[in-house]
Amino acid sequence: MISRYNLKCPGCEDVFIARLGVEPTRATRFYLPCPHCRLPIRGAMSGSELENHRINIECEVLYGSDPEPPGALIVTINPFVPSLYEANSFAPTGAFPTMTLIQILGHDAFIEFESERHQALDAGQSLWPKVRMLFQYYLQGNAQMFTRIATQQFGLDWKPSKAHQRTSIAYQVLGTVATTIAGSTGNSSARVIARFAKKHSAAMGRHQDHLLAFRQRGQSAAALERDVFTELNRFVEQHESWEMGLLVRFIGPQEQQAFDELVLYRDEFSTIRDLYQQGFELACKCLWPLVAAQNTVKRNNPDDFGQDRPKIVPENKHPKSLAKFDKLPNAYKLAYVSQVPGWESLGELLNSRHRNTIGHATAHHDLQTGRVTSDVDPSGMTYLEFLGETFGVFEALSTLAQVLRAGRVASSPDFGFGQ
Ligand SMILES: [Zn+2]
Repeated sequence: MISRYNLKCPGCEDVFIARLGVEPTRATRFYLPCPHCRLPIRGAMSGSELENHRINIECEVLYGSDPEPPGALIVTINPFVPSLYEANSFAPTGAFPTMTLIQILGHDAFIEFESERHQALDAGQSLWPKVRMLFQYYLQGNAQMFTRIATQQFGLDWKPSKAHQRTSIAYQVLGTVATTIAGSTGNSSARVIARFAKKHSAAMGRHQDHLLAFRQRGQSAAALERDVFTELNRFVEQHESWEMGLLVRFIGPQEQQAFDELVLYRDEFSTIRDLYQQGFELACKCLWPLVAAQNTVKRNNPDDFGQDRPKIVPENKHPKSLAKFDKLPNAYKLAYVSQVPGWESLGELLNSRHRNTIGHATAHHDLQTGRVTSDVDPSGMTYLEFLGETFGVFEALSTLAQVLRAGRVASSPDFGFGQ
């Protein structure tokens, strides 16, 4: 819904009318630029129901019997949907932000977007707390509680008595909820995992070295596994703040220009950037099982990178072993992975150029233009595109969690040597 407010700018003291989009939310921080002097006025709202909804705008809100200051400028601000700032209630487009979306995306794409969006929000709110509980018992090694939760909450009808069985169940439910949150449009997770599983099991069956590499590294991957889960949990707890990144996957070249004129008025840049950066770094630590599988399948040795050197990697940086690969800069690691057919998407989701813009010390959210820019990339990207990048990091990290699982299963105490 849209609420109208008569506001007085704390800077220039001019009065204007703000049409503010309101939705149920745990906590949303937003901003609205004064139409007279462009001062960004900040605000926050919270409340899961409209009855307990609280909105605080950091300026004087004028009430009284004269609701419409004559000749006042009208602006439209919506922290939940990209909106057209200049839109007033008489404008043919932009008056209602959802109508704007239907107009730009077309009816069918809009319905699909809304459906994926609401399934994702539901999964984050109702399913994730159960998955988190199960996964925490898995990490703690509490087999009894793990089985109880798996039975009660997920309808498991057998007792997983072995550690590797619990690993599989824990990752299966994690994968299901992560896939729902990442949506199906533009999602490449299944393809990446399927290609890996095929190479990995071929390598496991044929080469003892491969199994040994996974076993050695799998044990040290326990700490990484906990870090990845902790980070995924942080992503889901902040889901409301970046979920609109899904919209980017529905925007083709034809719709691009229309979206460049819309702004998503959220004011949460520093929180989301932190998620983005941490997620990006962690995801790059989980790339080794992919190259190990590729090396074994192609050259019978997980440490042998052969002559497959990507263009951007200098000759003296070409690794001689997995241990050397671990020490490469992320951009190089990603180049090795994304040159393999089926894994190209990881290089797009974890885009090093965007990483440099967003992660740069001077990166900031310019509230005048609604763009995220830095000294190295002064034109930068829209805030919506920034959320799209964050969304991509979530997909990459949750996909790579499933890849990491292979290392955990291989190092499981259930499998003795020689098996
Ligand atoms: Zn002002």
